[in-house]
This record gives sequence, structure tokens and C-alpha cells, in this order.
Amino acid sequence: MTETTLPAAKAARMPAKNVRPFMHALSAHWPDAKTELVYKDPYSLLVSVVLSAQATDVSVNRATGPLFLAAPTPAAMVALGEGGLGGYIKSIGLWQGKARAVIALSKLLIEQHGGEVPHDRDALEALPGVGRKTANVVLNVAFGEPTIAVDTHIFRLGNRTGLAPGKTPRAVEDALLKRLPKDMLMHAHHWLILHGRYICKARTPECWRCQAAPWCALQPKTTPPSEKRPSAKPHGRATGVTIEDA
Ligand code: SF4
Repeated sequence: MTETTLPAAKAARMPAKNVRPFMHALSAHWPDAKTELVYKDPYSLLVSVVLSAQATDVSVNRATGPLFLAAPTPAAMVALGEGGLGGYIKSIGLWQGKARAVIALSKLLIEQHGGEVPHDRDALEALPGVGRKTANVVLNVAFGEPTIAVDTHIFRLGNRTGLAPGKTPRAVEDALLKRLPKDMLMHAHHWLILHGRYICKARTPECWRCQAAPWCALQPKTTPPSEKRPSAKPHGRATGVTIEDA
């Protein structure tokens, strides 16, 4: 995905009593929410997430299908080398840096973790090309930890809806961990990502068809295109923060 700058506008903080029904509405709309990256084990998930920085999941899946047939393990990836890997991922943005990171992290997995992806935040974040967000995705999706990986969609929703306002992705993550009901944490980030991707979109949220609208703090809500007022503006919350998706 491309770099995202939040548009100017402001939502009030969502009342605490609205948090559960808001999230429940999302869960009802996206009952099978899960990552759209195609993977078969923690290693292929880790590599896919590293490759997905500033790229769509569709473009990553297109490249990793053939890649993981050729190199399904860290050892096979290292044998493939940066040049060989590059041949599979050239269609993905920033592929040269990502190829370097994938080969380097694969070597480290072999040298320090027996060729396995570690179930440990610090060890994950010590891998080349792996930051907090990638570690959160791997911990949640591969290891079942109730983590929240704040990407551009979740950052926007946290601020726009008043669910978890924050000036940085980490602030939004901390606010979500504090405010979301514990029993919803495991799947929350997938519900929020899909909602942000398909309904509460970056440029203009589609409030008129949003199942969570009664509990969202943004005012005014957007109306269907045919009913739009000429003065309608993009919605969001001014933070002055620019973040990159991964
Ligand atoms: S689409 Fe509109 S009503 Fe729904 S969560 Fe986004 S801002 Fe709120």
C-alpha cells in the first residue's frame, strides 16, 4: 500500500459503552475475518508480511505462490539467494530491500533459531526487516496471541471513529489493547482491517452502509453519493501523522 496521510477532521472519543457493540457489529459483518495473505506455516507468513510493506496482499500472493514452491524453508531461501529471490518478487514494490531482508532473516533463523520462526516478540523484532507491526501479525496469526498490528487502516479507524485515538501507531495499539474487550482481542485487528479496507475507506468512509454506524463517534456521517451535499469533505482526525502501511 502507499503512504497515507490522514485528512483533517475530528471525531469525539467513542463512549466506553459503545465499544463492545461497535466491535460486535464488525464481527457480525466479517465473521470469517482473517489475513488475506496466503501462507502455510509461520515462516511463509513471516516472509509474506515482510514482502507486504507498501504492497497489496494480492500482489504478494501472486509472487509467493511460485516462490514458496521453490523455497519453502529458510535453508532453501538462503540457497536461492538475493538474485534468485528477486526473480520471484520483482513485481512487488521495494523488492530489492525486501529481498535483502528475507535472505538475512532466513540466515538468522537458521543460525539462532534452528530454522524455526521464534514465538517471542523480542526475537522476532531482532530479525532484519521485522518491526513491531510485523511481529504482532506473526504473534497473532501464527501463534494465536491477542496482539493488535496497527496498519494504516487501523490507525485511521482508531482515530476517525474515536475508538482509540492516538498520534502514533503505538499509541493507537496501546489504546486498543486497553479499550477492547479481552474476548475480542484475538480477532479485532482483522475485523478492523477489513472494515477499513472495504467500508471505512481512507478517502471517504461509506457510513451509509456501515453496520457499526450507531456506535461510531464520527459526526456527521457520510451519505450515499446520490445524496451528497456539495460541501461534503473527507472525514478523519487530524493528527499530523503520516504512516506507512505494511
Ligand atoms: S464508515 Fe462511517 S460510521 Fe462506519 S466506522 Fe467508519 S466513520 Fe464510522
